[in-house]
Amino acid sequence: MIPSELPLLDETRCTSCGECVQVCPTQCLEMDGPLPWMPRPGDCVSCGLCVVVCPSDALRLAPHHEPLARAPR
Ligand code: SF4
Ligand code: SF4
Repeated sequence: MIPSELPLLDETRCTSCGECVQVCPTQCLEMDGPLPWMPRPGDCVSCGLCVVVCPSDALRLAPHHEPLARAPR
């Protein structure tokens, strides 16, 4: 089940450090090239750790949006 809040990425702020992917306790984030995305949004528990660890303030929890979705390439 998709949680009520998921991390929303501001791509203009992301520095591609990968900290959010490393800290996620449920491994629902992955790097896709330079940006994180969420292949498994159903595993997110809205803990906010990725938001807290991001050094460039590029993530926030938000309701009702596409979860770190990337267009297919
Ligand atoms: S809110 Fe928590 S579970 Fe969800 S992506 Fe961020 S670190 Fe992972
Ligand atoms: S922690 Fe922040 S800056 Fe680093 S990859 Fe994740 S979103 Fe980008």
